Amino acid sequence: MCACRCGIRVHMRDGEIRYIDGNPAHPLNKGVICAKGASGIMKQKSPARLTRPLRRKPGAARGAGEFEPVSWDEALGLLEQRLKRIRAEDPKKFALFTGRDQMQALTGLFARQFGTPNYAAHGGFCSVNMAAGMIYTIGGSFWEFGGPDLDRARLFVMIGTAEDHHSNPLKIAISKFKRAGGRFVSINPVRTGYSAIADEWIPIRPGTDGALMLALCHELVRLDLCDRDFLAQYTNAGYLVNVDPAGAEEGLFVHAKDEDKTNPFRRHDQLWWDRRAGRPAENHAAGTEPALEGEYRLADGTPVKPAFQLLRERLDECTPEWAADITGIAADRIRALAREMGTTARDQSFKLPIAWTDSWGRKHDHVRGNPVAFHAMRGMAAHSNGFQAIRALSILMSLLGTIDRPGGFRHKAPFPRGTPPVYARIPNSPEAVKPNTPLAGAPLGFPAGPEDLFIDAEGGPVRIDKAFSWEYPLAVHGLMHNVIGNAWRGDPYRIDTLMIFMANMAWNSSMRPEEARRMLNDKDESGEFRIPFVVVCDAFQSEMTAYADLLLPDTTYLERHDVMSLLDRPISEFDGPVDSVRVPVVPPTGECRPFQDVIVELGKRLGLPAFKPYDNYVDFVTRFETEPNSGQGFLIGWRGKDGTKALVGEPNPGQWAQYAANNCVFHHAMPASHQYMRNWNLGYHEWAQKVKLRRHPDPIMIQLYAEVLQRFRLAAKGKGPSARRPPPHLRTRVETYFDPLPFFYSPLEEQCTERDKFPLAAITQRPMAMYHSWDSQNAWLRQIHAHNYLFVNAATARAQRIEDGAWMRVESQWGEVRCMARYSEAVEPGTVWTWNAIGKSPGAWKLAPDANEFTRGFILNHLISDRLPGPGGGISNSDPVTGQAGWYDVRVRISRA
Ligand code: SF4
Repeated sequence: MCACRCGIRVHMRDGEIRYIDGNPAHPLNKGVICAKGASGIMKQKSPARLTRPLRRKPGAARGAGEFEPVSWDEALGLLEQRLKRIRAEDPKKFALFTGRDQMQALTGLFARQFGTPNYAAHGGFCSVNMAAGMIYTIGGSFWEFGGPDLDRARLFVMIGTAEDHHSNPLKIAISKFKRAGGRFVSINPVRTGYSAIADEWIPIRPGTDGALMLALCHELVRLDLCDRDFLAQYTNAGYLVNVDPAGAEEGLFVHAKDEDKTNPFRRHDQLWWDRRAGRPAENHAAGTEPALEGEYRLADGTPVKPAFQLLRERLDECTPEWAADITGIAADRIRALAREMGTTARDQSFKLPIAWTDSWGRKHDHVRGNPVAFHAMRGMAAHSNGFQAIRALSILMSLLGTIDRPGGFRHKAPFPRGTPPVYARIPNSPEAVKPNTPLAGAPLGFPAGPEDLFIDAEGGPVRIDKAFSWEYPLAVHGLMHNVIGNAWRGDPYRIDTLMIFMANMAWNSSMRPEEARRMLNDKDESGEFRIPFVVVCDAFQSEMTAYADLLLPDTTYLERHDVMSLLDRPISEFDGPVDSVRVPVVPPTGECRPFQDVIVELGKRLGLPAFKPYDNYVDFVTRFETEPNSGQGFLIGWRGKDGTKALVGEPNPGQWAQYAANNCVFHHAMPASHQYMRNWNLGYHEWAQKVKLRRHPDPIMIQLYAEVLQRFRLAAKGKGPSARRPPPHLRTRVETYFDPLPFFYSPLEEQCTERDKFPLAAITQRPMAMYHSWDSQNAWLRQIHAHNYLFVNAATARAQRIEDGAWMRVESQWGEVRCMARYSEAVEPGTVWTWNAIGKSPGAWKLAPDANEFTRGFILNHLISDRLPGPGGGISNSDPVTGQAGWYDVRVRISRA
């Protein structure tokens, strides 16, 4: 039901659902179920269900919720007519953005076939910093694409993670880890959920994690507690960087050849300094060993330094005392934690007798484990300085030598991928958008330099959300949070039709939701809505649905087919790829139709080539192949005509039935020799290439020094291999934030806040009993909480004479809300926090007019601005590298109400 995607069993009697429990035979949750999962029955019976297509009544204001029913045929006919016209005129005038995003392979294909670049899911306002920061550094990321190996870890450090992240699997793993005597440290401004059972809670000020990571790295390097062999062989620590400040190639790696064709997208001929011979050599050349420190000169006089030397120099200033001032954690505590990490990794290191061969053909008879594992999530990521903070975390994990090793961080298929994975090419010019033509490239991807930016001749953005422009060059998940504002402003242009699927953009998914509502309902001089047509698809009557011109009712998760696909967000395990499906247990309620079916039918009606051959979504999943006869489709289990093949094989007409007969899940366990060191594991790479998990079998080097960032920085300095340059007003911004080595800066919001007026940080968490706003109408879960408090450290509250349980006021420079106070010792004194998406807007979710959600609940979003002061009328409150929304950067003050 939520993004954890546990296996469940739905027990029926006389065609009715009686109860739901966890499926013990499912590899992910092994029968464990959470409150939300067990309460799914009340979601099915929710009075807030939308049950038929609706059209806004003529003349009714958006937001008034005045609709009239239409048939599906009318609704789809209307949409078909409108989208056909847009596609023939200018496809980018259609924007499709989705909240629930476990079907991006389908919705992304639809957008691409339609020809619009204006497509993304919710990652930009969720955790793109986590994904981008880690993928650009180590080739994988937390949650479904990788995680802590708690079976073998001895020390587990969790940072900024709420309890619903990878919920049931992580609970099972932590429980086992603790019983086996492992030590669990939680770093978080708030001690809830997982942190409540941590052996130690280290409170930290929000938005300062990057400083802590850098100080920990500083200590590991100072104490020489790094895994130097790991760094030398598996990271770019030894690669030589051109340090000639006057040269055009400043900050780039130096290479052995003019051309290297190992992988057309990625070179592997960087030089290192062979410390044995005292001269440069191609990396990993037989008999050579890289120097990690020092300064050298090439034969042509070019001054060079190993990347690790540059990292060392960067870390010099990041002392524990420096970080203590920023984070609020005592310097001695930082020093002790670094020592504990380093000594655990070194002294409790172990070997597993698993033979494997590395990318350079060297055979190993074991894999080593340095048993320190981490898990981190949005608490670290959702800041406008989060990308560099996550880079620092990834480097910390690499210094300890824990990447894809037992007891450390382990990848899950289809990861690891390149650093970055450059084969999914996004278009790089407006020419990619043409009438009645599919988009010439993927709408989302991983830029590797200025040449990959999706910009026009003047350097301006092509996408409505400005992703992949000079403002947010590495916006790999798009910026859904910018869409309504940009479309309203006509910046960079106006659109015609905005289609939103299951995202509550008029409430808890927008900063300053009242502004989003005003924009959605606003008209221009000619009396036309500034965003002319809004289509909303959802299963429930949310705050957003009231703003639709056309409202399409989706099914629940118990009424439709779904895939958790390797092309998208699978549920893989450390030991191999896993995917799964949902099959309907009850028919759709009323006239509800699965959104996937709607997409396939719209694709057919519009004549989009990729959708023509299919009857519906089930047929599409069964027969779709990524390329003609590729054998690669949405599902990896029971492929081949008779269902005897796995991973790749011809489409199998009986595939859904075989999934249904096998607990709806397919698990391919790889041999042990392929389960570790997958960034550099030749056997794994050759197999992964054969089953189309990778394009090339080349090594995936850890990027301690991110040359990709330096390419953007050089362009901002007016030099480097690319002729593209940022527009003048963005040059300093790109030069500052595209630092190839991680660094700490205050979040952008903090930089424009008077700290003495707004002394507190304010943050939110998703509650464990509700998944975003989607469970607001669940009668059982509402008994757990129907309203929320602002949790305030008792000392902080008392200083303002605010009593426990009393009404209080919380203000930022952008707005003010009234809420109820709850004293808490489980929050650091400089932070206040609350559960997200509990408070509701009156009239929504079919709740009673006096429901606690309206009268006592609140959302912090009213205090958070989507815009900050900046050049050209302001900038988005987002990370300047990735566009990640800065949800947790707001500063507030509190008072009695
Ligand atoms: S964690 Fe999510 S998927 Fe798992 S049981 Fe709970 S609601 Fe269902």
